[in-house]
Amino acid sequence: MASVEEQAPAAAAAEREIAVENPATGQVIAHVPDLGADAVAELARRGRAAQPAWEALGFEGRGRVLRRAQRWLLDNAERVIETIVSETGKTWEDAQAAELAYGASAFGFWAKQAPRYLADERVRSASVFVKGKRLVLRYRPLGLVGVIGPWNYPLTNSFGDCIPALAAGNSVILKPSEVTPLTSLLLAEGLRESGLPADVFQVATGRGATGEAVVDAVDMVMFTGSTETGRRVMARAARTLTPVALELGGKDPMIVLSDADLERAANAAVYYAMLNTGQTCISVERVYVEAPVYDAFVAKVTAKARRLRHGVPAGPGSVEVGAMTHAPQVDIVERHVEDARSKGARVLVGGAREARPGQWFEPTVLADVDHDMTIMREETFGPTLPIMKVADADEAVRLANDSPYGLSASVFSGDAARGEAIARRLEAGSVCVNDALVNYYALELPMGGAKASGLGYRHGAGGIRKFTQHQALLVSRIHPRRDVHMFPYRPFTTRLFTRVLRLLYGRGRRD
Ligand code: NAD
Repeated sequence: MASVEEQAPAAAAAEREIAVENPATGQVIAHVPDLGADAVAELARRGRAAQPAWEALGFEGRGRVLRRAQRWLLDNAERVIETIVSETGKTWEDAQAAELAYGASAFGFWAKQAPRYLADERVRSASVFVKGKRLVLRYRPLGLVGVIGPWNYPLTNSFGDCIPALAAGNSVILKPSEVTPLTSLLLAEGLRESGLPADVFQVATGRGATGEAVVDAVDMVMFTGSTETGRRVMARAARTLTPVALELGGKDPMIVLSDADLERAANAAVYYAMLNTGQTCISVERVYVEAPVYDAFVAKVTAKARRLRHGVPAGPGSVEVGAMTHAPQVDIVERHVEDARSKGARVLVGGAREARPGQWFEPTVLADVDHDMTIMREETFGPTLPIMKVADADEAVRLANDSPYGLSASVFSGDAARGEAIARRLEAGSVCVNDALVNYYALELPMGGAKASGLGYRHGAGGIRKFTQHQALLVSRIHPRRDVHMFPYRPFTTRLFTRVLRLLYGRGRRD
């Protein structure tokens, strides 16, 4: 692996350095440059210069590079997983299933689907003004896209959005989280080895100020991170009228109805709450259980959570729950658990920060929580599973919707149709019935937050069209020298036009 300094293109212009830690051990494993605004402007200049040739390669040429990158990812799977594990502290399996597998499928998906989603569309219009003319909707790359990402999924949620942006013909600057920049730098190396032309993809390592400089320098911002920072990014982008797509925080509810398969619901609750140590935007953050099955559900979840192995990831199959990635997040988790405990919640499993090198919090199950507790209202983003008893499905829906967030949700019921009917009442960008989170792997399905959870979509047609300008083309081939509506205005044609309007729009029955 090339040194980090070699990989970061504008290292020479770095004003400061950032130490990258392994959160499972507390050891510093690398240093990366903290790029200032001038360095970012230089990356932008290079990215813009490289973009036209990349666009000119067409879907086939770009697809070839993306397919080679897919192969590179699989050939280098171990190195990629080790890098992700080393800078996030997550388990081997979390890095494999939710990052490597996602990246491998995304390269192939966008290489194959970009030509279909972005093909020119022939449009037919009812307007008399354009009769006989050729109307085309064309998806034109925006130019230079800035992708700003969080620390919880350095491949999936930072690099992942770069793939459709590149497939659409843009050049990209990726600003990864200052906490987890190494995966992005490694993937930049992978893209270079896969034949991506120089400067089409560049990594701007740095903190918030570097992110601001990226917002200032690009033609479109794809941001993933907290709702608070998302607001700042949108406000900054407003200065230059730069379009933004925002994938933000969540507080995903799970509803368990009394006719649910409790074994499946409990397995799903524990897995989707503890996956990636609970640091997933669409993890299960709160559970509402109908009263008749509440005790049985709590007992099952408690038994399963007690069996989780928790510790430093040491290769495949070693632990189920790894470290927490970002030190301040441990403080938030501790505050939420303490607040719940002080207001009467029962801590059935875990409940404490661990005193060992790195950043650790025990997998934690809380019962008898309610909406007076912070843990049911603010994003916790840790290995916690708070469970609340509700009288019926209506109360569950009311409480699930009682949140500023609306990212994802899940409903468990033995009657799938009833589950779906409840899913349709939830204010969330995506809802699973008798499942959770796996919709994210269906790249054909849009994924985006409602309410304060985001703006725009990733995946599906919208997930690549957002990286393009929707350009309208009108081509007139056969036409008179002067159309009737052109100058000079004449009484006869004006009156004729009135009659034509009545004929076109004045007929038909109305209430
Ligand atoms: P964060 O908002 O603190 O940081 C995200 C990125 O923004 C980082 O790269 C950071 O350096 C950068 N940044 C900070 N200030 C900036 C500014 N003023 N201008 C531009 N960039 C700036 O988020 P985080 O703590 O890294 O990530 C956790 C959050 O991300 C959680 O809220 C989680 O729910 C959310 N998330 C959402 C999704 C989704 O798809 N909706 C996916 C993953 C994570």
